[in-house]
Amino acid sequence: MEQLVESLNIDLEQERKDILKKYRRLLRTAKPFLKDNDAKLIKKAFYTSVDAHKDMRRRSGEPYIYHPLAVAQIVVEEIGLGTTGIVAALLHDVVEDTDMGIDDIERLFGKKVAKIIDGLTKISGRFEYGSSQQAENFRKMLLTLSDDVRVILVKLADRLHNMRTLDSMPRDKQLKIASETIFIYAPLAHRLGLYSIKSELEELYLKYTEPLEYRAIARKLRETKNIRDRFISKFMEPIAQDLASAGLNFILKGRPKSIYSIWNKMRKQNKPFEEIYDLFAIRIVLESPPESDREKAICWQAYSIVTDHYKPNPDRLKDFLSTPRANGYQSLHSTVMSKSGQWVEVQIRTSRMDEIAEKGYAAHWKYKGNDTKVKGNIEQWITQVRETLENGFGDKTAAIEFLDEFRSNLFNEEVFVFTPKGELKVLQAGSTALDFAFDIHSEVGAHCMAAKVGGILVPISYVLNNGDQIEIITSSKQKPNEDWLRIVVTSKARARIKDFLKEENRRYETDGRQLVEKKLKILGMDATAEVMNQLRAFFECKTTTDFFYRIGKGYIPIDDLKRFKRDRDAKEKKAAESSAANNTPPATGTDGKALTKYLKQIHGDRADSDTLLIGDDMDKIDYKLAQCCNPIAGDDVFGFVTINEGIKIHRTTCPNAAELMSKHGNRIIKAKWSGKDEAFLAGLYLSGTDRVGLVNDVTRIISNELHINMRGLTIDTKDGVFNGDIKLYVQDTRHLDILIAKLEQVEGVYNVQRFDTNLNGK
Ligand code: MN
Repeated sequence: MEQLVESLNIDLEQERKDILKKYRRLLRTAKPFLKDNDAKLIKKAFYTSVDAHKDMRRRSGEPYIYHPLAVAQIVVEEIGLGTTGIVAALLHDVVEDTDMGIDDIERLFGKKVAKIIDGLTKISGRFEYGSSQQAENFRKMLLTLSDDVRVILVKLADRLHNMRTLDSMPRDKQLKIASETIFIYAPLAHRLGLYSIKSELEELYLKYTEPLEYRAIARKLRETKNIRDRFISKFMEPIAQDLASAGLNFILKGRPKSIYSIWNKMRKQNKPFEEIYDLFAIRIVLESPPESDREKAICWQAYSIVTDHYKPNPDRLKDFLSTPRANGYQSLHSTVMSKSGQWVEVQIRTSRMDEIAEKGYAAHWKYKGNDTKVKGNIEQWITQVRETLENGFGDKTAAIEFLDEFRSNLFNEEVFVFTPKGELKVLQAGSTALDFAFDIHSEVGAHCMAAKVGGILVPISYVLNNGDQIEIITSSKQKPNEDWLRIVVTSKARARIKDFLKEENRRYETDGRQLVEKKLKILGMDATAEVMNQLRAFFECKTTTDFFYRIGKGYIPIDDLKRFKRDRDAKEKKAAESSAANNTPPATGTDGKALTKYLKQIHGDRADSDTLLIGDDMDKIDYKLAQCCNPIAGDDVFGFVTINEGIKIHRTTCPNAAELMSKHGNRIIKAKWSGKDEAFLAGLYLSGTDRVGLVNDVTRIISNELHINMRGLTIDTKDGVFNGDIKLYVQDTRHLDILIAKLEQVEGVYNVQRFDTNLNGK
C-alpha cells in the first residue's frame, strides 16, 4: 500500500488534513441539532468508517472516506436529518464493502442504526443490477421504508453524491446510472417533497445523457440573464412597495426554471429555446410566525397585492394552502399578466412553507409540533405504500410490474371523497367508482354494478371528483372482467381484479394445453418443452401459459398450428442446407453475458470486443434498428437484447432508453457504427410561412442538390402557415445536419427538426 501510494505520488499528509477539514465542516453544520452524546456518536461513526475504508479509493483516486463524508454532509445540510441520519450516512457503505458485519454495527451503534444500514445494504447492488433484480431491491427498500424513512433519505443522498461525481465513471456506466436516477430516484425525491434534490438529479441526468443540449441551454440562460433580471425587478417594484407599506417582510426569489424542465418543454412542444416563455417563476417568501391561520392570511394578503397590479388568469390559481399536497407542499400559485403582455407565474408562501418545499419530509420533523395534519398525510402515504407491498409479489415480473405502478403512483395527487356515512376516503386522482368500491372491500369491488353519486346513478367508470359522496350498488351476479383493468387506476383495485382473473384464466390455460397436445399428436409432433417454446415464439406470446390461455380462449384458432408446422419444416430444411461452420448466435432470450461472450468470439481479441459493430455483423447477428427512435449512423446508440426479435439498436436519447437500461441492465450491450455505406430512414419536421413554390424549393434541395432519396412528404397549410413532415433516407447524422442547414435557409422556412417516431406509420 505504502508503495502504491508513493508511486501514485499522493500526499498522504495533505489528504489527512482534507479528511479532518471535511469532518469538522460536517460537525459545524450539524451543531444546532446536537444534544447530549450526539457529537461523540458522530465521532465514533467517523473513525469507524475511516478505519474500515482505510485501504480503499474511489475510482477518481480520492480516499474512499470522502464519499461517506459527503453523503453525511448532504444528509444534514440538504435534507435536514439529525444524528441518526448522519451516523447512518457515514457508515452506509461499511457493511457492503468492508469486513465489518451488521452485527458489528449493532454492537457499536445499536439496533436502530444497524437496521438502517441493513436496509441500505439490501438496496445497494452497486449499479450492477440484474434484469429484474433492481425492481426486487427497490421493493425491499420500500419495505424498510415503513420502518424508517431515513433509509430512503440516506440512499437519495448517496445517489446524489454519486451523480455529482459521475465524471470519473466510464461512459456506459454513466448512462446506466443516469437512467436509473431519472427512472427511480428523481420521482422518489419528488414524492418525498425534496424538490431541490429532485431538480439537481434531473439536471445531472441531462448533463450526462445530453451534454450538448445541456450546455446550449445553460449558455442561453446565462446570455438572457440580464434581460430577465431587469424584467423581474421592474415587475416587482410596485408589489414590493405595497408589501412593505402593509408591514410584510419578504424575500424575493426570481429563479429560472431548471435546465431539465426547459429541455423537457422544448421537446414536448417541439419548440426552440427562444419560444419557451415561462422560463422562470417569481417566488415571494413571506416572514410569518409559524401559526397556520396567520400564515395563510398573510399569503392571501400578498396575493391580493399582486393582483391589484396585475390581472390574474383565473384558471391558473392553485391553492396548496388549504389543501397541501400529500408530501406536505404548501404554496399559492398564480399566473398573472405582466405590463408587457407576458404571463408570469407567481408563487407565494411563508418561509416555513419554503423550507418544507425545499427540504421536504425532513423539514416536517422540525415543525411537526404544529403541523400534525401535514404529517398525517405523509403517514397515510407510507401506509398506502406498505399495503401495496404487502399484496405479495411472488415472481420477478410482478416485481417489475409493481415498480411501474409505484412509479405512476409517485406522480399522482389525491382525490377526497366520502362514503354514505360521511367517512373520508383519499384515493389517487383519476380514481373511478370501481376503485372506490375496491377500496371499501374487495368483495364490494368484485360485485360492483354501478354507483350513486349525490343520489344520481352513475356507471362504474365514473371518475371521482373532490367532495363526491358515493354509494356502491352491488349484485351477486356481477364479476370482474378484463375491461375492468382499464377502468381502475389504483394498484389495490388492479391487484384484486388480476387475482380474480388469474383464477379464471387457469381454467382456460388447462383447456388450451389439452387442445394443443391433442393437435400436435395429429400433426405427428411431440409435445416437448422445446416445441412448446417454439410455438410460443411463433404466435408471439410472452409465456407458454399465455399461449395456452389464448388457445383456450379461442383467440388463436387451434388450426393455426398447421401454419406453425409448415414454417418449422421449412426452417429445418434451410438450416440443414446452410450448416456452415459459422457460429450461431445464442438463442434469443438468453442473457447479456452469453451474448457478450458470443460477440467476443466473432470479433476475436480486438479492443472493445464486446461492442456490437452495426453494419459489420449484419449477416451474423440478428439486429434491427428500433422504430421508437429510428437511429441513423452517427447517433449515440446502444444495443438491447429482446426476447423474440434479436438485438434492437436504440438511440441513447430514445424515450424508452431510461426504462430499458434501468430495468434490464444486463441486456444492454455497447454498440457503435461501423462506417459502412448504408441508408437510414429519418424524419424531418418543417414549419414556416407558406408561399408559392415553397414545396418545389424544398424538394429540389433534397433530391437535386444533395441526392437524397425521399420516401414521403406531407405538407399541411392553414391560414398562411405550413407544417410538413418529410421522410427520407440519409447516410448518417452529418448528412442529415447538412440537409437541415440547407432547408433552414429556404425562404419562409422557420423551423426544421428531426423527429423519431412513427416513421413507418401513416
Ligand atoms: Mn455509497
